[in-house]
Amino acid sequence: MHPIEACALLFGKLSHDEAIVTKVEFAPNKLQSPVKFQIDPETVAAAFTNAEKEDLQFIGIFHSHPAPAEPSSIDLEGMKLWGDALWLILSSTDGELAAYQLMDDSVEEATLQID
Ligand SMILES: [Zn+2]
Repeated sequence: MHPIEACALLFGKLSHDEAIVTKVEFAPNKLQSPVKFQIDPETVAAAFTNAEKEDLQFIGIFHSHPAPAEPSSIDLEGMKLWGDALWLILSSTDGELAAYQLMDDSVEEATLQID
């Protein structure tokens, strides 16, 4: 049995090719699933409002899943919905952490700094 997927929204500063995360807003996984996650739209809206007040930009989404730290087919569908958001994925099987971004329909590894 794997733990329920953890998920969070990442905020911080974006400049040129650099993304610096200064705020991690953990959000409950609406699906309570070990293999899928979904964040409640109200939680998303509240997190965006708070970030705006703090003058932080939306950087991307973090989640954990019980597979290697790369986007699953479900994640790919999600990436298309979230546009140019960075996806930070933690493998709950080997603890590896990696970031990805969808660019012109292909998944590229991204660099992301966490403060
Ligand atoms: Zn995933």
